[in-house]
Amino acid sequence: MIITKKKDFKELMGNIRNYRSFFLIGCSECASLCGTGNEEAIRDMTEALKAEGKEVTGGFVPKTGCQVLGTKKELKAFKDELGRTDCILVMSCGAGTQTAVELFEDKAVYPANDSLFLGNMTRFQMFDERCSLCGQCILDKTGGICPVTTCPKGLLNGPCGGMQDGHCEVSPDIPCAWVRIYERMKKLDKLQELCETVVEAKDWSQGQKPRALSTREKKEKTRS
Ligand code: SF4
Ligand code: SF4
Repeated sequence: MIITKKKDFKELMGNIRNYRSFFLIGCSECASLCGTGNEEAIRDMTEALKAEGKEVTGGFVPKTGCQVLGTKKELKAFKDELGRTDCILVMSCGAGTQTAVELFEDKAVYPANDSLFLGNMTRFQMFDERCSLCGQCILDKTGGICPVTTCPKGLLNGPCGGMQDGHCEVSPDIPCAWVRIYERMKKLDKLQELCETVVEAKDWSQGQKPRALSTREKKEKTRS
């Protein structure tokens, strides 16, 4: 999931100072789990904006904020409210904000959140970064633990010489990613495999931005 956090409210108010009326768009997926784009967050933002003398014409939580056509369809129910709106405030990740930019060519669109990383919710409202979307996954060689993301040096073959008692030299409060990989491979009885594997230098061009993917052609071929 994409981890988001609310922008500092003062900073947000500075960004939207020139607008009077707002329509709020959340997201029922990642931003809801982060508490940044669910119904409660929309209610809180509505109250906070009203307290600042702003008008809130409406708001809703779309099923998936980064799904452009689905969100467009859901927004049809808010035609009147949107007609009275100067500015769209998006309470999801940056992808959701850019859905709104695509759908509202003539209106100002602002993000209410900062998008941080791709990660996992480990406990209620606690999130850890787990994948950097490198485009060439090596989890098959590392026991399912990502050193690209969870080793601060991103070492493809480790550990480095600075590891101490299983802890990382860069951030001593976290375990060394490569020690975790070693321990997991040991449990799976795959130490031999780990010792024999040298992870080749990655083709970082696979992560060159902006990336795009279409699976449409493949599906159409399968159908015919
Ligand atoms: S190796 Fe790349 S794709 Fe796989 S989990 Fe790590 S960053 Fe993500
Ligand atoms: S101690 Fe381990 S996690 Fe930390 S930088 Fe070195 S290899 Fe990476």
